[in-house]
Amino acid sequence: MPLDTTTLFVAYIICSLTMMGLLMGSYREERPRSVAYWTAWLGMHTLGMLLYAGRGTLPDAVSIILANMCITGGQSFALAAFQTFFARPLRPVLLVLPVALAALIASMFLNTPSARIPLISTLIGGQSLLLALVVLRHRRKADLTSLLVATPFLLNGLLLLGRGGSIGLGLETNYNLLAPSMVQTVSMLLILVTLLASSFGFVLMHRERTEADIKTMALHDPLTGCLNRRSFQFIMDKELARLGRGAAQLSLLLADIDHFKQVNDTYGHAAGDAVLVDLVHKAERVLRNQDFIFRYGGEEFCVLLPRSGRADALAIAERIRQTIETGEVRYAGQRIRYTVSIGCTCSAGTQEDQRERMFLEADRAMYAAKQAGRNQVRHFDDLNENVGRERQTS
Ligand code: GH3
Ligand code: MG
Ligand code: MG
Repeated sequence: MPLDTTTLFVAYIICSLTMMGLLMGSYREERPRSVAYWTAWLGMHTLGMLLYAGRGTLPDAVSIILANMCITGGQSFALAAFQTFFARPLRPVLLVLPVALAALIASMFLNTPSARIPLISTLIGGQSLLLALVVLRHRRKADLTSLLVATPFLLNGLLLLGRGGSIGLGLETNYNLLAPSMVQTVSMLLILVTLLASSFGFVLMHRERTEADIKTMALHDPLTGCLNRRSFQFIMDKELARLGRGAAQLSLLLADIDHFKQVNDTYGHAAGDAVLVDLVHKAERVLRNQDFIFRYGGEEFCVLLPRSGRADALAIAERIRQTIETGEVRYAGQRIRYTVSIGCTCSAGTQEDQRERMFLEADRAMYAAKQAGRNQVRHFDDLNENVGRERQTS
């Protein structure tokens, strides 16, 4: 049953203006450029549709040429919004060309709708498909929000291409946007749904990105980029829970830079920072995919080695120590050499307080390495007081 297209048209205008108001109101403080482009898309498209509806009242140059330029220009703003959001370069030709083509086609075929409408429909349909494609290309795994944004554009593009084709082939002769037909009802509904679903989805995309950024900030060390102490507690507990479910042994290393205060005093604090970053890079080169490195605080780093017993822990710790000992850090024309002392320990059983216990053991082993002259690796099991101690491995 065809719905009243004039009512749908009015509903579209009201929804579009409301959405623009909501977007401008929600981002009063600091509006991302992508949202500004999106608002411009809504504004241009709405203006184009209003001019289009003024056909017969307004001069043809306005209701046909200018209206189509506004609609294609609006779609270009939507492309600019996506490109900005995905940090892709804005190609001016891709933005301006559709508007120029719309102006050309509408002027050349002002009085020949059977040629003008298929060409313009193909142009706007192509823009819609391009918009859907841009969003889908940047889609992450299991990302429903991108689908929410891309699907309406995809359907709109296909409908416009289909209509362009059917008008071009003479299968459809009713060109009026507000004509009470089934095709116009579907077209108007799709325009309305595209406006609502894609705008809501686009705001959601910004929100999801902000949440992901905040999560990254909460779990990572800003200087070195590695995981931080909060993540250590979180991941360690997760790994210990796996241990409880029968996973193989877990090892923990605690690495502390030797005489780091001297590094700062000799080369400056910024050089000290470069050393901290270097330690993480060097350790990451030694570590396997399953391993984690955390900045526990200051110049202390924890390394978690899942599915690793004493032999693995000692081998990996020794490789980290050697890589650091034999390397250097270049900073502001200076060559800085430094060493680390590393304490290791392994999980034993599945007691409640394993996280604290393993950390204390690794710390004691690290302290023993410092006592023995620094630039060494020590395992908790090999400390004098523990020799002969039975480890209950899970
Ligand atoms: P040891 O061999 O016994 O470990 O001696 P150390 O000098 O490394 O140990 P100490 O604990 O005395 O000094 C740690 C230094 O680490 C002191 C502090 O200024 C420095 N430090 C902590 N955090 C940072 C940081 O983010 N950047 C820089 N550059 N220095 C830091
Ligand atoms: Mg320290
Ligand atoms: Mg130190």
